[in-house]
Amino acid sequence: MIEIKQQLQAIQADIEKAIAKRDTHHVVNQGGGVTLLSVSKGQPAQKLREAYEAGQSKFGENYLQEALNKQSELQDLNIEWHFIGPIQSNKTQLIAQHFNWVHGVDRLKIAQRLNDARPSDCLPLQICLQVNISGEASKSGIAPSELINLVKDVSALPRLALRGLMTIPEPTQDAAMQHAQFRQMRELLKNLIKQGYALDTLSMGMSSDYQIAIEEGATIIRVGSAIFGARPAKITPEDSN
Ligand SMILES: *Cc1c(COP(=O)(O)O)cnc(C)c1O
Repeated sequence: MIEIKQQLQAIQADIEKAIAKRDTHHVVNQGGGVTLLSVSKGQPAQKLREAYEAGQSKFGENYLQEALNKQSELQDLNIEWHFIGPIQSNKTQLIAQHFNWVHGVDRLKIAQRLNDARPSDCLPLQICLQVNISGEASKSGIAPSELINLVKDVSALPRLALRGLMTIPEPTQDAAMQHAQFRQMRELLKNLIKQGYALDTLSMGMSSDYQIAIEEGATIIRVGSAIFGARPAKITPEDSN
């Protein structure tokens, strides 16, 4: 049995260590803080409640229907919900209504649909643009060379607040290559800031590489299995996307 509370304490200690190792030039946000986003896809609501009671209030979900089910079970908690999965056009309305953040935006059409569906009595939807930093053909995310145009267009949407960039790097055991991919993300963000965009977020780093991501400037790490253990089989198999 994995003890969620102990896992969270160990991760917090690792986060502090990585922050201490980080070069100050790698800090992209005011205050230099790092947010731990608990990635709870595949985990039953009870596990999220356990993590919440241990101090976690930000949860990342990949599958809309699964997330909506958990949101209704956990209505009594003050959770900040992040949608981190791939986004299909027909899901944008519910995503815009039920989440605080969306990390995987890589097309203007999706951003426009989220903007149009964001209820006027909610704060703007907080957005990260997903970048395909490794250039793998199978991977979602915009190419770095096309990023500036998307940034310009998404920044103009009034119901969205563009905060920064997100990536899922190519998996590798090679620490130098891990550093290099995260470093490229930091350079992309810094370059956008230099061009006048008020961005402060780098969403990068998962269970296997979050320390390296933090050293390179991550401001939000998205950690699942290191908190909750291996994911059980999908809760709602029909909701595969
Ligand atoms: C599942 C997932 C994570 C967490 O992965 P772990 O390896 O379990 O930490 C982070 N980001 C995204 C986009 C994911 O889909």
